[in-house]
Parts: sequence; structure tokens; C-alpha cells
Amino acid sequence: MSPPIPFMDLKAQYARLKPEIDAAIARVLAHGQFILGPEVKELEAKIAAYTGAAHCVGVANGTDALTIALMAEGVGAGDAVFVPAFTFTATAEAVLVLGATPVFCDVDARTCNLDPVDLARRADAVAAKGRLRPRAVIAVDLFGLPADYDGIGAVAARHGLFVLSDAAQSFGARAGNRRAGAMAAVASTSFFPAKPLGGYGDGGALMTDDPARAELYRSLRAHGTGGTKYDIVRVGFNSRLDTLQAAILLAKLPALDGEIAARERLARRYDAALAGAVETPPRPAGAVSAWAQYTIQSPARDRIAQHMKAKGIPTAIYYPKPMHLQPAYAMHGGGEGSLPVSEALSRRVLSLPFHADMDDATADRVAAEVRAACAQTR
Ligand SMILES: *Cc1c(COP(=O)(O)O)cnc(C)c1O
Repeated sequence: MSPPIPFMDLKAQYARLKPEIDAAIARVLAHGQFILGPEVKELEAKIAAYTGAAHCVGVANGTDALTIALMAEGVGAGDAVFVPAFTFTATAEAVLVLGATPVFCDVDARTCNLDPVDLARRADAVAAKGRLRPRAVIAVDLFGLPADYDGIGAVAARHGLFVLSDAAQSFGARAGNRRAGAMAAVASTSFFPAKPLGGYGDGGALMTDDPARAELYRSLRAHGTGGTKYDIVRVGFNSRLDTLQAAILLAKLPALDGEIAARERLARRYDAALAGAVETPPRPAGAVSAWAQYTIQSPARDRIAQHMKAKGIPTAIYYPKPMHLQPAYAMHGGGEGSLPVSEALSRRVLSLPFHADMDDATADRVAAEVRAACAQTR
């Protein structure tokens, strides 16, 4: 019997980085500054340098990062915020908790990222109707691949929309000479353990070139404080990044580019082995994915998933239901059929076991079973 295949392998990563991570944790336990300790500032500086954004502000998680970014712009009731229908829940949730209205847009069938043509159509419709003010758009870099920021930026400029980049899945990705985190006015990211740069708990960050926005984020993550700790100048949150998480992330950051290169190499191996059997992930010119997931598409998705399960190989479906069909958000959507590409993707996508420590033989075994499943369904 072959050994079990993990979908993702955080234990292997820990084994590889153990001395650095253990030492980083021990340092925090020794100095005891668990809240906004020196590692938080150091990580913020290192992330700013890494991404090319002038400022980074650590927060408690990627969802809060989205919420704080929108709140800082004054987004609220009466505002329309355009979001892709095919994304993780948090993208729409951040809009709704502020009392604003999400306007779900369709995505590109290949990249799974926000389609600027559909965005333009929906922004025009909202503007023409006049009930909501078009205010912002959240571009998500799904599976690690940067969204089409040029296309989205052109629509945003026409409607005066604030562009927020949800880079939760793309930390480390590149497009042209820009890094994820520096592709829009503001970017948010997540350090959830399974993300490209993951901690050992929750964490997140905001990145921007604008010093005034960065200062506002620092205030909003700490209860809306002003000059001193007990001077509250606005309503905020308790959403600081833990010192322990910052220390762990500092230990992991130097390994990130090597891990992305390893995943890129593995992705090419999967591409070659799966060509012709399923649709493999796209590679738009000039873009380098952070490869948060390796996601195939097939009309036989459910059969392939069943076959893999029978063979003891884990797979995952990101995402089985688009946002506009979620019971809690459905009142803001147009129902079944209103976002056909997102709906089709939710029936076609399947993410395969994939991580930087995976060996070629394992990848070949996974690919062979996908091919076997496809051969059976013909
Ligand atoms: C993970 C994720 C988030 C939220 O991050 P958390 O740290 O879990 O709150 C937001 N957007 C996308 C696209 C994500 O994948």
C-alpha cells in the first residue's frame, strides 16, 4: 500500500524550517511582548520591502483586513461594492458587515478572476439605476493568480471606484514587475495557515503606498485610537496581528520564493501529465502565480473526485457554491442563471494535492489517477 497523500503538508514545511521557527517562538516567549511586540513592526517592514508597497499594517486576519480597508474609505449604506461571485465568502462578507451592498460580478472562465467586461456592464447598470452609489471594487487573485488589474483599473477610473486587491491567496505572486500587494491602491492579505505565506493561527495585513491610509489602518486595528492609547477618535476594532504569528511569519518569509518556485515546477509537471485529459490552470503572459492551489477544470469533476476519494487521494472543491447562491447573500443576487460562468465553475473545478514539499513520484501518482478517472468517464 502506498503512503497516504496529504492535500497540503504543513508538517513537512515545519520539519524543513524547524530551527528558525522554534527560535523565533522562543524569542517571543522570552521577551513577553505578545501584543504589538517588536516582531510585528519588523514583519511589516519586511513585507513592505518584499511586496514593494510603501506601508504594511498587520491585522488579525484577512477578513478584517478587507473590512478595515473598506471602512477606512467610508464605505457603508447606499454604496455598491463590486465583488466576484466566484470567491471565498470573506470578500462579500466584508461588504455586508459595513451595511454596503455587494454587486456580484462574473469571472473569466479560464483564470477564474473578475471579468472586467462584466464589471463594466454591472457598474453601468448600477449607475443608470441610481439607487446605489458605485463606490468600490474588490479584485480577488484566486488560487494565487493576479487579477486583471489593468482591465479592472480602467473600469474603476470611469466610475470613480476604489480598487481593493484581495491578495489573500496570492502573496508572493507577480505580474510584470509588480508583486501582489502592490497592484492596486490598497491590498489585503491573509496569513491563515494554508495560504501561500501562512502562520500557525490567524493573521492578515494591509498594504498601501499612501501614508495617510496606513495611519488610519493602525488606528482602526486598535479600537480607533488617536495620539494615545486612551484617546479614541473613531470607532474601530480589536484586530491586531499577534506577535507570535509575526515571529513565525518572519521565520517563514525567507523561504517563500523558493516554495513558490517549487510549486511552479510541480505545476508544470501536473500540466504535462494532465494535458488533454482536463483543463489545466491558465498561464497569462507576464504573470507568476503564488500557486495557493492547483485547480483543474472538467465537466466530469464529480466522477474524478469520487475516483480520487476511492483511491485515498484527497481533493478539494474551491468553491462548490458561488456567492449569489449562498442563502445569506442570495437577496443581493439575481438567482440561478444570473452569473453563468461562476455557476459553471462551481460544477467544474477540482483542486489537487499540491505543496512545495511534494515529490515528483507523488505528483505522478495523483496525475495518473486523474487520467484513469477521465478514461473511465469516456
Ligand atoms: C482566506 C481568504 C480571505 C480571508 O482570510 P482570513 O484570514 O481567513 O480571514 C479573504 N479572501 C480570500 C479570497 C481568501 O481566500
